[in-house]
Amino acid sequence: MTGRSWPMCGHQRVTALLSGEIRDRRVRHAYLISGPPMIGKTTLANAFAAALICGESEADGAACGECEDCRRAARGTHPDIQRFSLETQRQQSKDRASSDSLTVDTVREIASVSALRAYSSRFRVIILEDADALTDVAQEALLKTLEEPPPQLVLLLVASRADSLLPTIRSRCELIALSPVPMVVLAECLIGAGLSGDDAAKLAEISLGRPGWAFRAIEDNTLIQERADAQDRISEWVEATPFDRIVRAFELANDFSRSRESVFSELGSAAEYWRTVMMNAANAAGGGADTATLGESYRALLSVAQCVNDLERNVRPRLALEAMVMQWPATSPAAVSPR
Ligand SMILES: [Zn+2]
Repeated sequence: MTGRSWPMCGHQRVTALLSGEIRDRRVRHAYLISGPPMIGKTTLANAFAAALICGESEADGAACGECEDCRRAARGTHPDIQRFSLETQRQQSKDRASSDSLTVDTVREIASVSALRAYSSRFRVIILEDADALTDVAQEALLKTLEEPPPQLVLLLVASRADSLLPTIRSRCELIALSPVPMVVLAECLIGAGLSGDDAAKLAEISLGRPGWAFRAIEDNTLIQERADAQDRISEWVEATPFDRIVRAFELANDFSRSRESVFSELGSAAEYWRTVMMNAANAAGGGADTATLGESYRALLSVAQCVNDLERNVRPRLALEAMVMQWPATSPAAVSPR
């Protein structure tokens, strides 16, 4: 339908929607882009920002990639695109202790930048990464900007979990939830980047539909090793005695206040483990599904999802993690072999 496409792998439904808003001049003041780590949220925010500031994008809703605005956007020096994140906050602030949450000071800075007129384009775009790390006070402060947005402002909030933001923030944003990119689509992107068909198919599969992960894994071998190590840790956890399962749950609970992301990542690996058990049970040898294992692994998978929900809703980590392992089947399933 349009001549130009967005420079990213997959997520065509979303890019078509956003292009349409640019073409029809229906761009909103705030968007909340959410989805699992490395699925393409920041890439999407960057591509959207470029499409908004490009002087040639009104006709087809995509950046031309060639004009001065596009070149500056690509270099990260466009004066109408500002970026805030835990990283920029750390660079600004001398107080390193406050670095795992985005503070009200950062939101105040966003508010003052938002009020400035755009320098050379139709919009002033602010990308706020790590939005799920905003404190409640910071979110309340941000709400003021969202309630009365300056005319040219487009605020792009980027968060792994949209649910960790206040409903009042979410209701003022257009919600863009990114889902895993289908394996065939991702494999095509990887072939485009120079991988053989076999390598592309294998990497697309283990990346669980996350282009950012796949492209990084091409450059950085340790990523694939880390994933294998994570799967080994989960196997060990599942194969442990009921007592040791709880001990491990408590260890993670203790880590939670220091390092939320690492606990969420471990739970992501646990979900992947149980999903694999479930798929293996559904395709059991001999044609018939292994219904007992299928049911057990499905319940275990739900228990992981429930635990993630509980942690996001500030249930005590010990309770949430203990409740999860109590729902895992008593005997561990036959060894899972992630390919
Ligand atoms: Zn352009």
